Amino acid sequence: MVSPDVTITFLGGLGEVGRNSTCIEIGGKLLLIDFGVMFPDATMPGVDVILPDTRWLQARSEDLAAVIVTHGHEDHLGGVPHLLKQFEVPLYGSELTMALARQKVIEARLEDRTSFHTLSDGQRLKIGPFDIEVLPITHSVPESLCVVLHTPQGVMVHTGDFKIDREPIDGRTTDIGRLKELSEEGVRLLMADSTNADKPGWSPSESTVGDTLRQLIPRWGGQRLIVSCFASHLHRVQQICDIAIGEGRTIFPLGRSMVSNIRIAQELGVLNVPHRAIDSIDRIGEYDSEEICVICTGSQGEANAALSLLARGDHPDLSLSEDDVVLLSSHPIPGNEIPVYRMINRLTRLGCEVIHDGFEHVHTTGHAQREELQHLYEALLPEWYLPVEGEHRMLRRNADLAIESGHSPNRTIVANDGDQVTINADGLRISGRIAAPYHYLDGLLDDLSPDLLEERRKLGEGGFVHVTVLISQESGLVGHPDISTLGWLDAERSVQVLAELEIEVTEAVNAAIRAEENREAIERLVRRTTGRFVGNRTRRRPPISASVILVD
Ligand SMILES: [Zn+2]
Repeated sequence: MVSPDVTITFLGGLGEVGRNSTCIEIGGKLLLIDFGVMFPDATMPGVDVILPDTRWLQARSEDLAAVIVTHGHEDHLGGVPHLLKQFEVPLYGSELTMALARQKVIEARLEDRTSFHTLSDGQRLKIGPFDIEVLPITHSVPESLCVVLHTPQGVMVHTGDFKIDREPIDGRTTDIGRLKELSEEGVRLLMADSTNADKPGWSPSESTVGDTLRQLIPRWGGQRLIVSCFASHLHRVQQICDIAIGEGRTIFPLGRSMVSNIRIAQELGVLNVPHRAIDSIDRIGEYDSEEICVICTGSQGEANAALSLLARGDHPDLSLSEDDVVLLSSHPIPGNEIPVYRMINRLTRLGCEVIHDGFEHVHTTGHAQREELQHLYEALLPEWYLPVEGEHRMLRRNADLAIESGHSPNRTIVANDGDQVTINADGLRISGRIAAPYHYLDGLLDDLSPDLLEERRKLGEGGFVHVTVLISQESGLVGHPDISTLGWLDAERSVQVLAELEIEVTEAVNAAIRAEENREAIERLVRRTTGRFVGNRTRRRPPISASVILVD
C-alpha cells in the first residue's frame, strides 16, 4: 500500500515577521501550527492587526482537526480568537500557552467554540491522522514547544520560535538529545525559525541579562525604578523581580497584560514571586522611592501602553520625574524604532535616567543566531530544509546557513506565503499555491481592502477637498461654491487661495450651465477644475469630491 502524501501550506510568516501559521495535511485532514497576528507599519493607517487569510481554510472547514500553538507570543497565538469566530476547533499547547490562550478566548467570549488541551514536554499523541510529539525548546516566553510530526512520509520537525539557551532561567533546556535520536531514525524535513539567521555567533543566554541587572539595580538605591519588558517574557519578569526584591523593593505591575500575565504565571507556578512583595499601583504613594520597582508594558513604544502614557505624562496613577530610573529591558522590533526613541526622548525630557540595550546588556534575543541554527541543523541532519518565520532575506540567509553546513542546495527550499509543498516517496516539491493576502482588522471592521488602505494613505499624504455647488434651473449658479478642506492646507491662513479656487469653479460652472450640460457633467467638471487648481497651486493630489445640487 502506498503511504499517503503530506502536504504543507504556508498561510503566513514566510515573507514577514508575524502572522505565523503553517497547515499540515495528511489523508484529507488539516492540522494548523500557530495562528498569529502581525502588527501594522506606517503604510497601514488605522490597522490594528494583520492576520493570515482564511478563505482557503473556509472551503476545508470540515477537515480542520486541531490547532497546535507553539508558544504564547501574539505572532503565533494572537489570531486564535479570530480563527475561532469562523471554525470550531480544539487548541493544543503547553500549560502556560493554553492559559494565555484561554484568557484571550474568554475575553472574546468564544469559550464554546473550542477546548484546551495541555501538552507536556516530550508528550506524543494522536489527533486523527496526525502523530505528534512535542519537545521543550527555549525562547523568550516559557514553555515553548518544538513540534515533531511522525508522518507516513517520515519525521518532520517545526521548531516554532527558538534559541538554544544553555542556561535558561527555569533549567528547561532544548531537548537536543531527543532531536539527535530522531536524526538517527532519519528526518525528512526541518522547518526552522529564520528571524535571526543573519546574525553571527550564538545568542547570549537569558541568564546573562540577569548578571547585568544584578550589577545595575543596586546602583540606583534612592531612586524609583521603572522597568519595562514584554509581559509574556516571564523569565525576564522573574529576574527583575528577584533582583529588585533582593534590594528591598516592592513590585508594582502596571499595564493590563503585565497584571494579568503575572497573575496567570503565579497561579501556574511559572513565576515565583512572594505575594507580599507585590502591591497594587494605587498604593504606590505609601512607599518611599527606594522601595519601588514598577514593572510595566510598553517597551515597544505602543501608544496606549503604560510606558508611553508615563512618558507623555498621561498616566492616572503615576507621574515620572528626575528622581526616576527607567530601564527598557527590550529591543525595538524592526519598524518600532521611531516610536521607541520618541518615547525615550520624552522620558529624558522629564528628567528620567533611561537605560536601554543600546549601551547596557539589559536584553537578549529569543531567536537563534547563525551558530545555533547550524547546531540544530547538525543535530537533525534533515533530508530537506525549509526556513520559516521571517522576511524573505532572513529565509534566504537561513537556507544559506544550511548549505554552508553541507546541505544540498537542491534539497533546500525557500518558500513564500501561500506556497504548498508535498512530500512523498519521490521527495519534496512545491505542488501548489493558494492566495495568502494580508487580512487587515481595524476596530470592528474586518478584512479591509487594499484599495481602502490606499485611499487612507492618500488622505494622510494630501488631505481632502470637497466642493459643493448649488444650481437652479432659472438662475444658474446659486451663491458661491462652498469649499471645505481637511488636512490639505490651513484654511484660515489660505483665504486667498480658496478665493481663487472659488472664482475658477464659478467660471467653469457658469460656462457649463450656458452650454446646457447636465448635473453629472457639471459635477465632473467641478472635480476636474478643482483637481487642476489644487495640483498647480500646491503640487499635491489630495482626493477631491464634488456635489452639484439642483435647487428650485
Ligand atoms: Zn515568539
